[in-house]
This record gives sequence, structure tokens and C-alpha cells, in this order.
Amino acid sequence: MRCPFCHNPDSRVIDSREADEGATTRRRRSCPACGRRFTTVEEAVLAVVKRSGVSEPFNRSKVVAGVRRACQGRPVDEDQLHQLAQQVEDAIRASGVAEVPSNEVGLAILQPLRELDEVAYLRFASVYRAFSSVEDFEQEITELRMRHHRGGTPPLPGLQIEPPAPRRRGSARSPSSARDG
Ligand SMILES: [Zn+2]
Repeated sequence: MRCPFCHNPDSRVIDSREADEGATTRRRRSCPACGRRFTTVEEAVLAVVKRSGVSEPFNRSKVVAGVRRACQGRPVDEDQLHQLAQQVEDAIRASGVAEVPSNEVGLAILQPLRELDEVAYLRFASVYRAFSSVEDFEQEITELRMRHHRGGTPPLPGLQIEPPAPRRRGSARSPSSARDG
């Protein structure tokens, strides 16, 4: 391992111990050139298996990028995005698997995102869970409202979700439309 201080190509391990209940190994190293000490952490790569069957290492930046898109215009800062990505990784690692299907990464994002910003959550869920109708949004919003009641937190006054307006043409969804009186 190269020394991060003087870039000497070699260093010496002076201590090694398990951390995080054996999930990681921390090594204390010493540089023979400059004498400084540093720590390295070794952990198993968490693999994400895509639908094509190709697997790649779990990448927090990809989670951040995906969630950032859903958070456009929302009061969510970069720190919160990175925290969320960390939560997602922790949750997946805590499940004890070495490989996770990519769609489960999406699932693991939903819950912390709902805690972070409900509008962003709805956007993300609408894409990820392929909402296909206004009813899908309504159902999700109803569940969010029920959560507010259960949690005792007051409903957000300004939870303004504007799903695409239903088009009349050819839609036979509500034949006995009471909407027009
Ligand atoms: Zn050095």
C-alpha cells in the first residue's frame, strides 16, 4: 500500500484488527520512508447484479445521482444525498448478502427517501415502481397521509403533488363520472 503522505510505494502493517463485527479489517500502517502512520480498511465488495446478469460493485455515487434527479427543486442538499446513499449501503450490507439485484437497491432507496422528502419520494417511486395512472399517485399520497396520522406529525400543509392531468379523450376509467355533476 502506497503511503498517502509521501507516496512511497511501500508501507508496513503494524497492527490489524477486525471492526464492524468482522465485516471490515482495519490495518495500521507505517511508512518506512517518512515514518508517518495511516489506517486502511478492507471490506468485501458489495456487488450489484443488473437485469442483464452483469454485476458491478455497489456505487454510492450512482445512488446519489439517481436520487438527486428526483430531488430537483426540493430543499435537499448534497450532504443529505450522501447520507441517504450511505443509509442505503448500510441497509443492504446489514442484510448480510454479498450480491444484491439492482432493483433491490431501488427498493432500499424508497424508505429513507420518504423520510427525507416526500415529493422527491413520490417522483422516485413513480418512476421506479412505474406508476401508470393518477390512481397510483392517489394511493401513494393516501398512504403518506396515513403515515402522518400514525406518526402524530401534522400533515404537511403544502404537499402539492400535481400528477399529470387526466386526459379525457378515450379514457374509460370513470364511465359514470360524477365529477361533472
Ligand atoms: Zn511516507
